[in-house]
Amino acid sequence: MNKVTLPSHYNYIGIFLTLGCNLSCSYCINHTVGLNQKRKHLNAQQWITGLKRIKAQTNLPFSLQGGEPTIHPGIYDILNGLNHPVDLLTNLQFSAEKFIKNVSPNIFSRNLPYPAIRVSYHPETMVFEELINKVLLLESHGHSIGLFSVDHPKYKNHILEAKSFCEKNNIFFKTKPLLAKFDGKVYGDYHYKDACFSDHLKTCECKTSELLIDPYGDIYRCHHDLYNKINPQGNILDSNLSINDTFKTCHYYGNCNPCDIKIKNNRFQQFGHASVEIRNIK
Ligand code: SF4
Ligand code: SF4
Repeated sequence: MNKVTLPSHYNYIGIFLTLGCNLSCSYCINHTVGLNQKRKHLNAQQWITGLKRIKAQTNLPFSLQGGEPTIHPGIYDILNGLNHPVDLLTNLQFSAEKFIKNVSPNIFSRNLPYPAIRVSYHPETMVFEELINKVLLLESHGHSIGLFSVDHPKYKNHILEAKSFCEKNNIFFKTKPLLAKFDGKVYGDYHYKDACFSDHLKTCECKTSELLIDPYGDIYRCHHDLYNKINPQGNILDSNLSINDTFKTCHYYGNCNPCDIKIKNNRFQQFGHASVEIRNIK
């Protein structure tokens, strides 16, 4: 199978090993967009074969995510089978001892200014003290790890306390803005004003800076398309796979996923980036 080189402006590679999870947070996007969590999954060997075809810069890691990526039955084979730096987005509900035994910190080595293992902290489904103990254990074994939490109005005070605790104890903790409608108010800063939460759909041309791959290996240009299984651009196991880096027509402007439209940092932590570029909105 041919190798595929990613365009140099690509800023993120998201590998959705599964959309299932071992927790159930009330605001989880998996529930709110009514996902079919049981879609077909690639096995570990298929992921390794497919991902080894992707040629990307070493400071553009494969970000394994979900759902919860560590519930994939082949997670350790995948982590150890790739020849490219990996990031892991996880809820950390696994045995830290087993992880330490099976995974070398070297696989997470890349030159970027934030932790490679990014733990989502969700106060409503997690026990903070247990999470901190695991973070400290993994860190003491050389893993680059930090906590990330959504700045949800419902948990504001608790998040502030957790942040202050982590700062005092030298644990990386970052809050991310809520990107949703909550209590009638839209939260988040968006690059294109009426792209999300709109009642009317428009047509536009859209170009992505992200490679997003669903549990079956299908490639999508944005989170909206991936979650809704719309317009796959190919599959990482296609024998003649190529990346078509052009503006393409989309008829779902107005229903974009906030993750694609929000104004955020790029992977070098420079603010002002958005995952997609949109033009000719009609
Ligand atoms: S841990 Fe993440 S993926 Fe799992 S239910 Fe909570 S928000 Fe959803
Ligand atoms: S306009 Fe929105 S829904 Fe359409 S491809 Fe771009 S980000 Fe996705």
